[in-house]
Amino acid sequence: MTTEYTNYIDGAFTARSAATLEVTNPATGALLARIPDSDAAAVDAAVAAAKRAQPAWEKLPAIQRAGHLRKIAAKLREHRTELARIIVREQGKVQGLAQVEVDFTADYMDYMAEWARRLEGEVLTSDRPNETIFLLRKPVGVVAGILPWNFPFFLIARKLAPALVTGNTIVIKPSEETPINAYEFARLVAETDLPAGVFNLVGGRGATAGDALVSHPDVNLITFTGSVATGSRIMQTAGKNLTRVNLELGGKAPAIVLADADLDLAAKAIYDSRVINTGQVCNCAERVYVERSVHDAFVERLTALFKATRYGDPSVDADLHMGPLVNQIGLEKVEALVEQAKRDGANVVTGGKRADLGQGFHYEPTLITGARAEMDIMRKEIFGPVLPIQAVDSLDEAIALANDSDFGLTSSIFTRNINSAMQAVRELRFGETYVNREHFEAMQGFHAGRKKSGIGGADGKHGLYEFTETHVVYLQTP
Ligand code: NAD
Repeated sequence: MTTEYTNYIDGAFTARSAATLEVTNPATGALLARIPDSDAAAVDAAVAAAKRAQPAWEKLPAIQRAGHLRKIAAKLREHRTELARIIVREQGKVQGLAQVEVDFTADYMDYMAEWARRLEGEVLTSDRPNETIFLLRKPVGVVAGILPWNFPFFLIARKLAPALVTGNTIVIKPSEETPINAYEFARLVAETDLPAGVFNLVGGRGATAGDALVSHPDVNLITFTGSVATGSRIMQTAGKNLTRVNLELGGKAPAIVLADADLDLAAKAIYDSRVINTGQVCNCAERVYVERSVHDAFVERLTALFKATRYGDPSVDADLHMGPLVNQIGLEKVEALVEQAKRDGANVVTGGKRADLGQGFHYEPTLITGARAEMDIMRKEIFGPVLPIQAVDSLDEAIALANDSDFGLTSSIFTRNINSAMQAVRELRFGETYVNREHFEAMQGFHAGRKKSGIGGADGKHGLYEFTETHVVYLQTP
């Protein structure tokens, strides 16, 4: 029997929704579950619950709020294997990475809990006698967290943990592609003593449930991870109520490989950050600029890695590099970009077409050389296992090409020369640069995009404070 999930609002699972959405396995097409196709009334109930719960939650000392996060983290660890299995089935992630996602999510909850004793305001010097100026940090109130499908479980924690530890309550809307893990998360939260209304979960489509959440006047901060197009729409909607936004959007991450790089390391790191999650990661290496003198040696190494890629249905094979793409639209988008690159004159070294496995949305791991800056394959987000390479004549040229992009999330450089690395660090206009390593951020860093990659950021101290607002107090004590 197919599981039918219901929303989690005000500390309880609701009655069944009249309208539902189906969730399927992208590797097989099998029906996995049904979730509510929530309407504005369901969103309204969730926001009202979050609003009611917020004042008491804010009054609770931060260390006690952190204790609730730790209890949830412990629950996630108890159920780590089954949670990973769910992510494999509904998103198509390979087993190892799904397990990393679950474990990282629990660690992230603990990490954000550690901030409870480190939330700081400021005391400022006044121009007046007998006056002290305090800058307090306070929660914003009700947070709406809208999630994508590519790291669906981790993103719950990336929104919820900093929101809750700083005294906010939250309503989460998972992606309609991958909501099961979020409903299972709610099931585990319900087994803890988290006060009712502090965390609420509403499933549904972006255009209905998502839009109702974003346009709700009682939402004080929208934290969204997803595409540029949706981010832009959300910002316009939020503008009507002047609701604050935190937007983590798409990327087109450049990787620069200089002639003095360790080519084995560069090829492996770039390969790893291209095939991870079947290329469906915002900070994946999406385009390479390699110095001409080492182009062939570098491509030879990458070709060997691409050709050795094992892919298939991750539920039945534990030892894969890649699973399927998330859906038919994703597959068609990748296919169209590669076909356009071929027409534009690029060379397909390996791959270049759908993988015929009989079922599922699989695309062959694809390496492309002879790419040029003006081609779509070098400008648009691919979100699939396709890596285009362009030869360059200098670091200056590579940096100029890297910066000539609508996006500004992550970037990387491979070199043994510290001066070259530091020139790149000074001149690259990106939120993150990785030097001699794969693209993958740490929870204590600050994951923030420039340009169309987003507004604000996540993780670390700076990500935490995005969930607060300041309140300045002028205290006269004559
Ligand atoms: P998407 O924009 O299609 O959907 C994301 C979420 O927005 C879903 O929950 C969807 O239901 C909701 N939504 C859609 N329309 C809406 C509307 N009008 N109002 C409110 N909500 C709406 O993105 P996706 O396909 O799920 O995710 C892939 C994208 O996410 C890629 O572009 C990727 O780069 C980006 N991403 C960015 C980061 C980052 O940290 N910068 C991380 C992961 C993914």
